[in-house]
Amino acid sequence: MSEEQKKVILTCAQPSGNLHLGNYFGAVKNWRSYLEQGECFFGIANMHAITMPYVPANLRKSVYDLVAIYISCGLDPERCHIFLQSQVQGHTDLAWILACLCPLGQLERMTQYKQKSAKQGDSVGAGLLYYPALMAADILIYNADAVPVGEDQRQHVELTRDLAIKFNNTYSDTFKVPELHIPTTGARIKSLQDPDKKMSKSDSNQAGCVYLLDEPSVIRKKIGSAVTDSGCEVVASEDKPGISNLLSIMAACTGKSVSELEKEFAGQNYGVFKAAVADEVVKLLAPIQAKYKEVSADKAFLDKVLADGAEAAQRRVNRLMGKVYRKVGFNELVR
Ligand code: ATP
Ligand code: MG
Repeated sequence: MSEEQKKVILTCAQPSGNLHLGNYFGAVKNWRSYLEQGECFFGIANMHAITMPYVPANLRKSVYDLVAIYISCGLDPERCHIFLQSQVQGHTDLAWILACLCPLGQLERMTQYKQKSAKQGDSVGAGLLYYPALMAADILIYNADAVPVGEDQRQHVELTRDLAIKFNNTYSDTFKVPELHIPTTGARIKSLQDPDKKMSKSDSNQAGCVYLLDEPSVIRKKIGSAVTDSGCEVVASEDKPGISNLLSIMAACTGKSVSELEKEFAGQNYGVFKAAVADEVVKLLAPIQAKYKEVSADKAFLDKVLADGAEAAQRRVNRLMGKVYRKVGFNELVR
């Protein structure tokens, strides 16, 4: 396959805390399958992470934790580019150009903006509103064919597609309109404490989140105290969001369907089911945790992964940004 024919896959996670089961099933596990399918760019979106209150020293540390977790989950840096968003010049330049094309009302209607700004009251920064323009730039600047994300990012990728079309119509054909890829299982894992909300790194209630690096005893405790519903049958239904969520987690861990699991646990009580879910999660995470211990200890290796990733990303970005600058009427960059 020639370089030009190869599909480009782009996606990112924020270093806003440790990855959890939602990030694994909705994103990273699924990303692994793209290693075979084309050239993959897996970003660490540290510029997005400053749209919410944060501590600079923690942000720097979280970047390394995230590189190590990506690798531990099977994103082999020999077969993909793992890069840090702030080390690649061009993302914010393109974000500005796209923001100038983006109707303000569309940004104000984004669900993530509404939910995250509600947590901040009057102190909400303009960066949170502008977040989808930066995310669109992250994707379009690589001329990505496919963007694998969890369900919560559907709206942002749809906006990215709109902005690609709008740019192409305004300035002439430049960007591919990327495809949204959402996994069939585990695309929206809910908080264990509030199954009406998605599991989130930035959730203040840590008990609702199973982190990939949680000790087995912590995992058992969190799943054991997950909010369940009235009744006692292990079945998925709209009025049983807690049990439905645990069934989704179990299905994503085992590869079995929810209906197979309902049959398997027919007549069992919630306690037995929760213990079985915890066993599967512990089993799934054990090799990831072992690999993390090894990889995270080698900071020089992690720096090398980021340096190689930034170099490959920058090469691709430069090609496209030269074109974008010409089309929008900017003078050539002086390098
Ligand atoms: P934050 O609360 O800081 O936004 P997050 O948990 O939402 O953190 P992100 O870094 O924003 O994580 O998202 C990384 C990837 O994980 C995205 O592809 C996103 O769609 C996916 N993802 C996030 N939460 C879930 C979830 N609960 N279920 C499935 N996928 C998820
Ligand atoms: Mg998020």
